[in-house]
Amino acid sequence: MHDLMKGKRGLVMGVANDHSIAWGIAKSLAGQGAELAFTYQGEAMAKRVRPLAESLGAKVMMPCDVEDLASVDALFDALRKEWGSLDFVVHAVAFSDKSELKGRYADTTRDNFSRTMLISCFSFTEIAKRAAELMTNGGSLITLTYGGATRVMPNYNVMGVAKAALEASVRYLAADFGPQGIRVNAISAGPVRTLAGAGIADARLMFNYQKRHAPLRRTVSLEEVGGSALYLLSELSGGVTGEVHFVDSGYNIMSMPHPDVLKT
Ligand code: NAD
Repeated sequence: MHDLMKGKRGLVMGVANDHSIAWGIAKSLAGQGAELAFTYQGEAMAKRVRPLAESLGAKVMMPCDVEDLASVDALFDALRKEWGSLDFVVHAVAFSDKSELKGRYADTTRDNFSRTMLISCFSFTEIAKRAAELMTNGGSLITLTYGGATRVMPNYNVMGVAKAALEASVRYLAADFGPQGIRVNAISAGPVRTLAGAGIADARLMFNYQKRHAPLRRTVSLEEVGGSALYLLSELSGGVTGEVHFVDSGYNIMSMPHPDVLKT
């Protein structure tokens, strides 16, 4: 199978470098024939993202900072002009002040709470609304979430609260756009070593803990997240919407570490 996404055009948001989850997803989509448009968060990111995007044959590359509504609108104006329609969206965007990704959730400030929610949660709703206008033949959208949305992960704090709201948004958006044949899902990825991941205090410890205690006894690769994204964005998952799909080596199913692991 090499052309699951042939004839489909999609937007990929959230590539910062070749360790980004969005990059792993982009590669798997391009490998199946998708035509991709990329965004980068301001000119500082452009020099890393441009060559990556070009290596997958992308012709549309636009700056987009989701805090700046004008840049979101400019992005969709450009897509409307370039392509006229859209088949899928990958939203892999999140941010919170590093100084609040440690210590107690209770100490989250009002400013960082609002900013984290805007960038990491509301931006998906804002983008989904604009994308849906271009999805004249139906479509599929995915966002990235993490298990800290439903269970307490030390240091994840306000990001966990934003991911919980993001997961709820997925369900509401799926209900809103379902009648237009537009599907909305989330991938809940296990820890991956990325720029965003490194912002969480004790990230390495968390990474190693999950690796040790997940049923598969390992973390997940970018290719594995990419493969699940391909499923959710292609017709293979035609009957699936409003779901949070775990790609975490099974870590989420455990209520305690296996005794065999604890004894070693
Ligand atoms: P990353 O640092 O490679 O990507 C994060 C992206 O968010 C970057 O491209 C950055 O430019 C973008 N971004 C941040 N603020 C933005 C803004 N205001 N406007 C536009 N873009 C903005 O890290 P990643 O781990 O690949 O993160 C991608 C997604 O995956 C995030 O939603 C993250 O929460 C989620 N996720 C990551 C992990 C992990 O362990 N790394 C696990 C589960 C979910």
